Amino acid sequence: MTESAQVPAVEIRGVHKLYGSLHVLHEVDLVVAPGEVVCLIGPSGSGKSTLLRCINNLEKVQAGIIQVHGALIGYKRVGDDLVETTPRQTAKARQHIGMVFQQFNLFGHLTVLQNLIEAPIRVQGTPSAEAVERAKALLDRVGLADKHADYPAQLSGGQQQRVAIARALCTRPKVMLFDEPTSALDPELVGEVLDVMRDLAKNEMTMLVVTHEMGFARQVADTVVFMDQGRIVEHGPAAQVLDTPQHERTKRFLDRVS
Ligand code: ADP
Ligand code: MG
Repeated sequence: MTESAQVPAVEIRGVHKLYGSLHVLHEVDLVVAPGEVVCLIGPSGSGKSTLLRCINNLEKVQAGIIQVHGALIGYKRVGDDLVETTPRQTAKARQHIGMVFQQFNLFGHLTVLQNLIEAPIRVQGTPSAEAVERAKALLDRVGLADKHADYPAQLSGGQQQRVAIARALCTRPKVMLFDEPTSALDPELVGEVLDVMRDLAKNEMTMLVVTHEMGFARQVADTVVFMDQGRIVEHGPAAQVLDTPQHERTKRFLDRVS
């Protein structure tokens, strides 16, 4: 298939997001190819989390469209119009997207294994035996096979975040969104989480990663996107944006964080 005929993994066109009168995303365009790893960087408040939340339909956009593997997020086409999807249709579209948050967001009253199999069984109707088998294989992949019966509180932050990644993968998403996945971790636990993400990237997972880990961005990202004040200011190959930024705002930001 030629490049131009390939359906993007994520396609964002002309997106605007407002919270009341606060205009948080301005005319955002971003196309992500299958298997591409995009790191989103930028100052606090620049709209990085909001953009991920819109892709995952945790927030509705006020203008523009977002498509994941050709499926509209949050809206469906009726003739020439876009109509908001029902919660059921929304849930279906979201199955293809896995999200990992800064604060892990595991279910504290469920064991590690139960955390993983909850969505596959309840949302996707996966037979329980199959979900358990898949979950165990994923726990093995993130190095936590022996922790399946533990509760989240019994694990370190790094282990909890690896469980959260395995849980997100358990619904077999086509795209993974990471919102500062290592920011809440003690420094010595950051590496084990980045290793899991590196492994995912190597295995062709499409990933959008909000991160302050410039080393990771340089090493793993295909593309780096710099956001400021709700706009994509700069977007290009990782080495180009990180080493020879074209915009003054990108330069200033990189000088501060590195
Ligand atoms: P970043 O992740 O880059 O730090 P955010 O996407 O969290 O930025 O926030 C962008 C802007 O939107 C900020 O000004 C923030 O205060 C505002 N914002 C984020 N979430 C909400 C919300 N639920 N309601 C109102 N304003 C919000
Ligand atoms: Mg954020």
